This record gives sequence, structure tokens and C-alpha cells, in this order.
Amino acid sequence: MLHVDIMDGHFVPNLTMGPPVVQSIRAVTKAVLDVHLMITDPDTYAPVFVAAGADQVSVHFEAATHLDRTLRVIKGLGAKAGVVLNPATPVAVLEDVLDVVDFVLLMSVNPGFGGQKFIPNALNKVRRLARMRREMGLAFAIEIDGGVGRDNLESIVTAGCDWMVAGSSVFHSADPAATVKEMQHMAELAASGAVRV
Ligand code: ZN
Repeated sequence: MLHVDIMDGHFVPNLTMGPPVVQSIRAVTKAVLDVHLMITDPDTYAPVFVAAGADQVSVHFEAATHLDRTLRVIKGLGAKAGVVLNPATPVAVLEDVLDVVDFVLLMSVNPGFGGQKFIPNALNKVRRLARMRREMGLAFAIEIDGGVGRDNLESIVTAGCDWMVAGSSVFHSADPAATVKEMQHMAELAASGAVRV
């Protein structure tokens, strides 16, 4: 899938792209578009990004005033709905919304810029969330975003993560396509239990 980071210059200090760019990406690929809204008003804009062609939209717990409603609106429009947590927000706050989400995105850097270093506590959050998922008998996916690379991929998968967002480790490599394939292979090996970290 293609992970698209939307930043509004308010919720995060950086400014990236809006719905027209998502629409343009939609026009040239069949890949799943995973749109991550780092904006102050996701309740208003989430439906706009579904209309622009997003297959799945995630909104920050810290920004959504009406989280439950917004997640249900996204799903009602036919897209997958996700909730995102910043590094300092504990997974326990999600207890009453986990049965609604299709996925949970855990930030492993503070959102706003690419190229940052992975915050190790994110692994504990993945493990805690995977335990909650097991205990509650749910099947949402766990996604991680920030500082993911070849060096930490196996430990992230082993902790219970399903989807790993990789930016700099792919686009700053000599051969991005080969790097993606290699990282996918590493993740599959780790997931199959062939690698124990
Ligand atoms: Zn992201």
C-alpha cells in the first residue's frame, strides 16, 4: 500500500498535501491508499479524503473531538477507519473504540517530519496493543509509522505489528524498489516465526 502523510501546519509544524494530490495519486495507481491525517480537524476532513480516493483513513486520537463518530463516518463511506496515537499517548485510551476500528497506527516518532529516529518504547506499545486485541477477541491491524528500517523491522513484526510504514529507509536507499522487496521478505520471515528476535 501507499501511505500518504497529510500535514496541515497546525497539528504538526510541517505542511504537505491536500485532497487534490490524493486524487491525482488515485488516478495513477491501484495500490491501496492509506491516508494518515495529521491535521487539527479530522472530523471535518476525513470524508473529503475518502471522496478523493483514499481506501483507508486514519485520524489522530489527539485531534479528533468526535472520534467514534468520525470512525463510523469513514466506514460508512466504504473506507477502512484507523486511529493514530502519538508517542506519549498510551494505548489504554483506545479501550472503548477498538471494536470500531479497522486498524490502529502507532507513531514511533513525533509526527511532522521524515527521517527521524525510532522511539524504542513504541515496541512496548505494540505488545500492549496486541495483548488487548487478543484479550478482546478483535482483529484490527496494528500499523507503525516512523524510523522503520532494516535494523528494527524484525523486532517490530515479532512484537505483533502487521503493517510497517517505511519512508526514508526506502526513498533514501540506492534502489527503492529492491529495498521494499527486501524489507517485505524480512517481514514475512519474521512473521512466519523463522526469525526470533
Ligand atoms: Zn504517516
